Formats: sequence, C-alpha cells, structure tokens
Amino acid sequence: LDTSVLVAAVLLVDPAGAMLVTGSGKLLAQALRRQPRDQTVFNVAQTVLLAAGGGQVLAAGGWHAGHLGPVSPESLLLVVALGVVLWLLNTLAVAAIVALQTGDAPARVWSRVAVGGGPADALAHFVQVGLGVLVAGVADGSARPLALLLVPAGTAYPALAHHLRERRRADAALAHRATHDPLTDLPNRTLLLERLAGLLGPSARPDTLVGVLFVDLDRFKFVNDSLGHEAGDTVLVAVAARLRECSRPGDTVARLGGDEFVVLLKDLPDRSVAEGVAERFATSVAAPVALDGHDVTVSASVGIALVRPGHATPTDALRNADAALRQAKEGGKARYVVYEPWMGARLRERVALEAELRRALGREELRLAYQPIVEVATGRIEGLEVLVRWQHPERGILLPDAFVALAEETGLIGPIGGWVLASACRQGRAWQDRFPAPPVVGVNLSARQFQQPDLVGSVERALREAGLDPALLRLELTESAVMADPSGAAATLRRLKGLGVQLALDDFGTGHSSLGSLRRFPIDLLKIDRGFVAGLERDAGDEAIVRAVVAMAPALGLRVAAEGVETGGQLARLRELRCELGQGYHFARPLPAEAATALLDEEGLDPRLRFDVAG
Ligand code: C2E
Ligand code: CA
Ligand code: CA
Repeated sequence: LDTSVLVAAVLLVDPAGAMLVTGSGKLLAQALRRQPRDQTVFNVAQTVLLAAGGGQVLAAGGWHAGHLGPVSPESLLLVVALGVVLWLLNTLAVAAIVALQTGDAPARVWSRVAVGGGPADALAHFVQVGLGVLVAGVADGSARPLALLLVPAGTAYPALAHHLRERRRADAALAHRATHDPLTDLPNRTLLLERLAGLLGPSARPDTLVGVLFVDLDRFKFVNDSLGHEAGDTVLVAVAARLRECSRPGDTVARLGGDEFVVLLKDLPDRSVAEGVAERFATSVAAPVALDGHDVTVSASVGIALVRPGHATPTDALRNADAALRQAKEGGKARYVVYEPWMGARLRERVALEAELRRALGREELRLAYQPIVEVATGRIEGLEVLVRWQHPERGILLPDAFVALAEETGLIGPIGGWVLASACRQGRAWQDRFPAPPVVGVNLSARQFQQPDLVGSVERALREAGLDPALLRLELTESAVMADPSGAAATLRRLKGLGVQLALDDFGTGHSSLGSLRRFPIDLLKIDRGFVAGLERDAGDEAIVRAVVAMAPALGLRVAAEGVETGGQLARLRELRCELGQGYHFARPLPAEAATALLDEEGLDPRLRFDVAG
C-alpha cells in the first residue's frame, strides 16, 4: 500500500476523529520504515497529526464552528498555551517514533526535532504548531483539511529532515566501509564475492563467460620491507588506480588485502578479451611509480579463471584463478596464465604439502646433508656446505627445490632456517673438537631469512649455544638477496662480519652484480654458479668468465669456489685456471654427518680420485 494514499484517505474519511491522531502516528511509522527517503509523505503525516491534535484539543475546550465569539486576550493565551503543550507532545511523539525506527537514542532525536539547527528552527516549528492549532480551531472539524493546506508541509520539520539525512549518510558511510578497502577504496573481499555471486547467479546470461583475474604484485614484499610501509601504500594506491583505468566501467576491481587484487570481467564472448585485459594490466603496472626521491618498479602476475554462469560457485572461481596465479608465479612471474583443471590438483597438493611442512620440524623429519668443498690444488676438505633434506613419511627424501620456496612463501623458512643454523653449528662444534684444523661449515640463507630483523642476533645465539668458533661458520647468500637492497644488505653484512663469521656469495653470475659492485660488501668467498662450470670444456664464453673471476678476485680480497664440478676434465681446467676451491659430485655428493666425518678422518680427498659416495 502506498502510504501517501493511505494518509489522504484517513484524512478524508474521518478528519475529526481521535483515530486520526493514532492512525497518522502509525502511518508515520510506516512511512519511515517503508520509504525512509520520502520526506513529503513524512511531512504530510506529521501535519495531519498536528492539525488533528489541535482541533481535538480546541473542541474539547468547547470551541465549535461559529461559536468562537470575539477573540479575547484569554482565548489567545489559551491558544499559545495549547501550542506549547502540543509542540511538546508532538515533538516527543515524533522523537519516539523516529527513535524506534532508527535505533537512535530518543533524547538525542528529541533535541534534534525540537531545537534542530538552532533557536530559529525551534521558533519556526513552534509558530507552525501554534498556527495549526489556531487554524484548526477556527475552521473546526469539517474544515480541518483546509488547515493542512495552510500549514506549509515541507517546512514543518527541517531539523528532523536534517537529522534523517545525516543518519542516512552515516549509514551509507558505514556500509561503504564494510564493503570497501580503506586504503584504495576498492571493493573488498565481501563485496567481491557478492558481485561474483551476482555474475554467476541465475540472472546471468548463460552464453557468456565471466573472467576472474587474480592479480598479484611480484616485488611488493621487497618494496614494503626495504622502503617502508608508506612507500608500499603509495605503490598499492597507484596500482589500484591503474587496474581501474585498464578495466571497463561495469567491471569490478577489488583488493583482497596485501598486494592481491581481483578483477571481474562480465559478458565475455571468449578468453581472448580476458587475456587482452591481463596484458594491459601487465604493461600498466610495470610503469614506474614515483615515490619522493626515486621511482620504484613492480610487476604483476595474473591468474585467469573463465567461468560460465551457473557452472561454478564464487569460491570455486576464485580458487581456480588463484591456482592459475600460482602457475604464473612459478613460471617466472610478470606473466598471466589461464586456469586449467590440472592446476587445481597442484594447488591442493601444495596446500597439503604446506600443512605437512608445518609439522615436519616438530616430527623431526628434517635432515642435514654435508657436501665437501675441496681445495683444488691439494684435495684437502676446506669446508662443508649444509644442505637441508626432508625425510617425508610417504614421499621419501625431498630435496630443497621441492619445499624451500614454499617455506619462503609461508614464512616457515624462519623456524626451519633457525633449526638448520643451530644444527649446523652443533655439527661444526663436534668437528672443531675432533680435528686440529677443522672444516668451515657453510649455511645457506634465503632472501627472506636475510631480511629478518633479528638475523644477526640469531646467528650470534646459535654460535654461542653450540660453542662454535665464528670463523668456522660461513653464511651463503644469493646475489639476489644482497642486490635487492644493496645499502641495507651492506649494513647487515657488516654486522654479521662483526661476529667473526665468513660470508659467501652463492650462485655468482646468475644475478646482476658486477665484480666491481661487490667491493662494497665484506664478502670472503665467491661461489661461481655451476652453469659456468658446466660450460668449462665446451663454451669459450663460460670459460672466459670463470678465468676473469678467478683472476680478478684476489684484488678484491675474495676467494673463489667453483660449484657443480662433475668431471675430471672440469677439475683439470679449474686447476689450470688456479681456482682455489671446488664443490661437486666429482668430489663427493652431499653426505650424512657420519659419512662426512669419515671422509674428514681420511684427512682429505685425493682430487685425482673420483669419489662417488651415496648420499
Ligand atoms: P645451492 O646453495 O647452490 O647448493 C648446491 C646445490 O647443488 C645442492 O642442491 C647440491 O646438491 C647441488 N650440487 C652439488 N654438487 C653438484 C654437482 O656436481 N652437480 C649438480 N648438478 N648439482 C650439484 P640441493 O641440495 O638440491 O639444494 C638446492 C638449493 O636449495 C641450494 O642451492 C640452496 O640454495 C637451497 N638450500 C639447500 N639447503 C638449504 C637450507 O638449509 N636453507 C636454505 N635457505 N636454502 C637451502
Ligand atoms: Ca649454497
Ligand atoms: Ca650455489
């Protein structure tokens, strides 16, 4: 039922009855509930209440049509007094109704209704009530509708109108907050899932596709960790704006949190449109973001799921896009991948592996293998690199490639790395006690471990608890971990050096550092990546690089080790080039601690012999 029609009907049928008062009160409540935005209906209902009430009171006081007589000072006084009483009753009634409807505190609503925007509002209100009383009294029951025309409806309650408007604004702001990300003002996960449900629901066009694009920034963690959260926020806001620019007005660009965004594309004829959008994203996100002082560049990986409405739930669609995103990340980042069913299986596998890895430490499933690093000229074992293995209950021994990246992403590398470091230091201590010239123990630190704020403290603690001579510990870092933030890295490396430990740069040659750029880091050992060593006998370029590195290193205060020495021929070349150290299957595979100890007992490896120790 239309409320305004009802108001008019009640008005015409029984303009004089007391029912009108209560009736319009109820209607007022209905008007608020059903059409909170319809201020006119509200005002009409109010005015009815007012005029009817005034007429009733005057009638009760013996004022009838034609019986008014001359207006005496007493009757004027009576009108004013009645006006005050009615104004009070009226504002109380309105406040109570509004408070019931909106849930606001009644006293607060009343003060808004009665006083509103100030004394002028209150006076205007009061005068209108008085006018209503007077007109209704003079005209009496049958003419009361006339009073309604005379009392200007729209201005009866400006303060209340203001109050309701404000409320609506506050409600809208609250609703907005609940469904939007405060930083970028993009829809959040809640709203995203709601919109996705709408796109996939029964009202969707069945012959089109919905594209779910899961966008994740590639270097964001680095920006956040090294340049600070404010810089990170600036990048996120810029990326949000670019994603919005690259999509059509009807598409949804949402932020799930962190550096994860999801874009919904509707009414796609086929996958090519979604791929085109993903390409636009890639180009646009890759443009530098200006931070004060300098520019930073990030890239985006995109996972695309294409869903036919009615064929998947919103959660399925998101999960598929996420699986495709993982694939894009694994495929080298800064690319897009369209979901295919096998990826879902991989993702489930990954989730299971993550849960198992979480338990692996407590269940003592991690093991350490030790691979000798050998003096090329003499065959003496200079040190051993510690390599972690996972003795998986069903899958057997897993190599780091199968789980270290996962540990990095999930943060499990923290506890795992801590365990590796502590165990390696204890093993080093055992060798320190056993041999007069004990070997150095090399421990790998991943990029994320290197960025841990308490790294120096935890290394110091591990050394102290094991009682290992710091000079017998060598931390191996990758070029990318160091070069990600050269000045921060230089400071951390100096503090580590201050503990007395050795530092090695791992996989040298695979990153972007030149020999000259290494000068600023207090590094002791360069480990030439095994890719160059593999090329020693067949690639003149590789050989030239190894030769140059070996020749220039001493001037930079660096020692050199060649990784991945697999053949006698490679070893012979390294010896000719006077490379100091070598590591690889040609000398020994990674060994359990006891086997490594046995090798050390033999006082060194004869480099001319081929050792093939199972590990
Ligand atoms: P990496 O630091 O370059 O370690 C050397 C890798 O090369 C080891 O693989 C080793 O088994 C392998 N290798 C040694 N000699 C040869 C050879 O002659 N030929 C070939 N083809 N490979 C050889 P692994 O044990 O699978 O470790 C892989 C990577 O996992 C390591 O590369 C290292 O970056 C990482 N890693 C291993 N243990 C740890 C750890 O405890 N913590 C961290 N953060 N990373 C680790
Ligand atoms: Ca290493
Ligand atoms: Ca290496």
